Amino acid sequence: MIRIGILNLQGDIQEHLEATLNAAQKTGAKCHISKVKTASEVAECHGLIISGGESTVIGKFIQEEGIDQTILENRTAVLGTCAGMVILGKKTDYQQPLLGLIDMQVKRNGFGNQRLSFERDVEIFGKNYPGIFIRAPYALKVGSAANTLAKIDDKVVAVQQENCLATAFHPELTEDTRIHEYFIKEVI
Ligand code: GLN
Repeated sequence: MIRIGILNLQGDIQEHLEATLNAAQKTGAKCHISKVKTASEVAECHGLIISGGESTVIGKFIQEEGIDQTILENRTAVLGTCAGMVILGKKTDYQQPLLGLIDMQVKRNGFGNQRLSFERDVEIFGKNYPGIFIRAPYALKVGSAANTLAKIDDKVVAVQQENCLATAFHPELTEDTRIHEYFIKEVI
């Protein structure tokens, strides 16, 4: 049984839960998927999903709750989308708590403000994926330990390092569950 937690603080938590349930069904993997909010709940999980939202708020919460320590000690797999991508990075243009699990420097709101949110196909794993970008970040610099999975206009929008996967776009907002399936099947 694979246990997956959706960090229950802010952002598209319900959407991530549903996308993960659908993805699990497609992969045929036996999964237990739930919303989690404490370090002890995270400790039960093989994988954790950190949604979009405000990365400063989410990062502070993760630190205050000791969830960062739990993830580091257990080497929990993490999927971070949008704000979650920021948190997985080592550095941003702001002073904020980060997990630093992916060797990348992230530019927050890299594509501009809320009005400049957009939808665009992203080529990932050799196929197009419907990318929904909402005040999205991108990776400015990706270190040699990390693997760039997708770019748009030379901006890195999907990165993986070992069992951590980051996307600048929101896979939970489409019907296409391939990113969640990949997280379950290949990353966790
Ligand atoms: N710009 C936000 C941040 O850093 C992320 C936006 C989002 O998650 N939709 O924190």
